[in-house]
Amino acid sequence: MSSSAIAVYPGSFDPITFGHLDIIERGCKLFGRVIVAVVRNPNKTPLFSVQERLNQIRLATEHLSNLEVDSFEGLTVNYARMRQATVLLRGLRVLSDFEMELQMAHTNKTLYNQIETVFLATSNEYSFLSSSVVKEIARFGGSVDHLVPKHVALDIARCYARTHPESIPISPNSLLKTNHSRGEREA
Ligand code: ADP
Repeated sequence: MSSSAIAVYPGSFDPITFGHLDIIERGCKLFGRVIVAVVRNPNKTPLFSVQERLNQIRLATEHLSNLEVDSFEGLTVNYARMRQATVLLRGLRVLSDFEMELQMAHTNKTLYNQIETVFLATSNEYSFLSSSVVKEIARFGGSVDHLVPKHVALDIARCYARTHPESIPISPNSLLKTNHSRGEREA
């Protein structure tokens, strides 16, 4: 199934995980164009700046030709309308996601009648995965290589090596590169 519809996939993506990537790749098969839209939220203190997140997502999605990566501030429906999108794409992991997502979908419909929210159920192997879980593991020194793209794992390792030097990831690969990049910074 494929349509010419433009879908906006909004979120924090702080950082992008394999769970997000799974939704993005499946969305690209369903819709003519998918716009991954990073929400600029001045009330949150993210691990990565909007620009860093945009770069991370762009690198991870280079293989998708009908994908665009952008950021916005304000109401998602206003951004969708401005981009002539008719679909909001969201992922569902567990039952607790559903309650909040349904409320948001109903609210958005009252704000912009032309918009449809489409939910994709997470692939089983990512049902536990969230950006917060990734950050929690990394903060305590665990490897996140199996949860996020390689360049994102390196960004996380660098970030925590700076703010939590005791939490250098366990993976030998990340360790090598983290030490290397530390050396570069100190030079
Ligand atoms: P938000 O701050 O809007 O929750 P997120 O970056 O956490 O932003 O998530 C964006 C969207 O991606 C949400 O619809 C969320 O449910 C979905 N999502 C996040 N992780 C996964 C996953 N592992 N599998 C499927 N969907 C996911």
